[in-house]
Amino acid sequence: MPSAAGSRGRHVRTCLHYIRGVFMKRHAFSAAAFSGTILSAAMFASPAMAQDQEQFITIGTGGQTGVYYVVGQSICRLVNRLEDANIKCNAPSTGGSVANINGIKSGQLDMGVAQSDVQYQAYNGTGNFEGDAFEELRAVFRVHGEPLTLLARADSGIEELDDLEGKRVNIGNPGSGQRNTMEVVMDAKGWTEDTFALASQLDAAEQAAALADNNVDAMVYVVGHPNGSIQEATTTVDARLIPLNGPAIDEIVEEYPYYSKSVIAGGLYKGNPDPVETFGVAATFVTTAEADDEVVYQTVKAIFDNFDRFKRLHPAFEGLDAEEMVTSGLSAPLHEGAARYYREQGWIE
Ligand code: GLU
Repeated sequence: MPSAAGSRGRHVRTCLHYIRGVFMKRHAFSAAAFSGTILSAAMFASPAMAQDQEQFITIGTGGQTGVYYVVGQSICRLVNRLEDANIKCNAPSTGGSVANINGIKSGQLDMGVAQSDVQYQAYNGTGNFEGDAFEELRAVFRVHGEPLTLLARADSGIEELDDLEGKRVNIGNPGSGQRNTMEVVMDAKGWTEDTFALASQLDAAEQAAALADNNVDAMVYVVGHPNGSIQEATTTVDARLIPLNGPAIDEIVEEYPYYSKSVIAGGLYKGNPDPVETFGVAATFVTTAEADDEVVYQTVKAIFDNFDRFKRLHPAFEGLDAEEMVTSGLSAPLHEGAARYYREQGWIE
């Protein structure tokens, strides 16, 4: 989308995105006929019409058994309760962090959840975003911590990271944050996909069943805890959280400012009573500089004016502190609409 389209272009686009969702439910018609409808609607959508109408926002999340999906649904729940703002929010399931940032860049999404390492890489044009810096990327706030979580079948013989060699490992779908972070681990270890007997690319929501059905020996997920995916896996098959430590992990944490050591608490999942050492990132909420200031302001206001309610929507949100969420763990500049609310609260200068 050309940047000249500005926020009005984005608004019309997101309206159409929403309308498509509604239409698709009510009418079955061919994709070709459908794109014709979108095109003519876009041509006749006047600026006045865009201003008078409700604002529609679409938030990119992750798989339905992860935590991002709950983040997006929770935000929408609070935004949709706002009486005067006239915003309709929806938060579909997506491929994860990288897909969300790419979706925001292409205009298919207005906001999204993304790992802090992916936010950094996208904004600075490093890692998987090498040479393709997304300078309009804007941070909104940080959410929960997300340890890199390696879960292996108890009968696989996997007890540490190095045991993954020669095993069947789900390294994640392209577009997911876990795939992005797992590639950092693989680089540090000097591994390629050929290191594994199988490097599958299943979506986050499919991996627990693949582990239980013995189609893979291990799954990798960068995710908050507790979550539905690890719960599903550990209740359907005997599976263990595997510690991630050793020189390669130490190097990663030393080299990149956005990785830090972390621990998955013991006793959250069946058969896993002890805490497990690993490293991780934070989940962050992001948008683009093109997003309308007032819409972003109203979105953060909906969350932070109702912060206790928000925190109750998922156990991974329990320890969140509002001020910390806006002052640490972010690498892209704050969106201006969000910064306005944070200044009003005295959280930033
Ligand atoms: N961190 C994962 C990703 O970026 C998503 C985790 C979740 O859905 O909670 O793809």
